[in-house]
Amino acid sequence: MENIIVNNIKKILFPPRCPGCDGLLSPGSERCFCPDCVDRVEKICDREYKKNLLCLYLYEGVMKKSMYRFKYSNRRSYIETFLEVSEKETKEFIEKNRPEVVIPVPMYPPKKRKRGYNQAEVISSAISKRFSIPEDRDLLYRSRETKALKKMTPQERTNNLKNAFKIRGNSIKWKRILLVDDIYTTGATLSASATVLLNAGAEAVFSVCICGSGRILGG
Ligand SMILES: [Zn+2]
Repeated sequence: MENIIVNNIKKILFPPRCPGCDGLLSPGSERCFCPDCVDRVEKICDREYKKNLLCLYLYEGVMKKSMYRFKYSNRRSYIETFLEVSEKETKEFIEKNRPEVVIPVPMYPPKKRKRGYNQAEVISSAISKRFSIPEDRDLLYRSRETKALKKMTPQERTNNLKNAFKIRGNSIKWKRILLVDDIYTTGATLSASATVLLNAGAEAVFSVCICGSGRILGG
């Protein structure tokens, strides 16, 4: 009961924003994209593209700008709308794969201090709460800074990420892991992280990303 009251007060004090255009929605309204943006956002979570991977939205148009604000301009609250709008598909993916834990793709600590937060942790916390899966932020870490992947070829991305991810301790207690990140481009980051977890004893690693680039739909 108290939670309901607190949530309603929060809704009035911090009216939700449309993640597409950052416009304020009316106080108390559900978390959603505004009528202007809803047709400009393409949900891709109901498509088949790659086993063990769920991307919620196509990384195009308004979603590109939205992800930029989510990462760099402290619009962490968008995560609730991203998950709300794709609740059904995300829930199905989780129920099918039964992960025991959710782990965010880690950021190099000095970079996180500079940026203020790691957007992948925002995603993992929200998934953890919404779907009641424990979150583990300590196990996997990034041991060194890696260069921005934007302009690299797939091979350069893989080399750049070699040995960048490590785990604390010698083995891990989780068998089925849900690894989360903001944007899926070539999959190099997720694959480097998943390899470390699998080598340490995990049996299966699944991934949820908020956005996926057009190339994953191509083949
Ligand atoms: Zn909008």
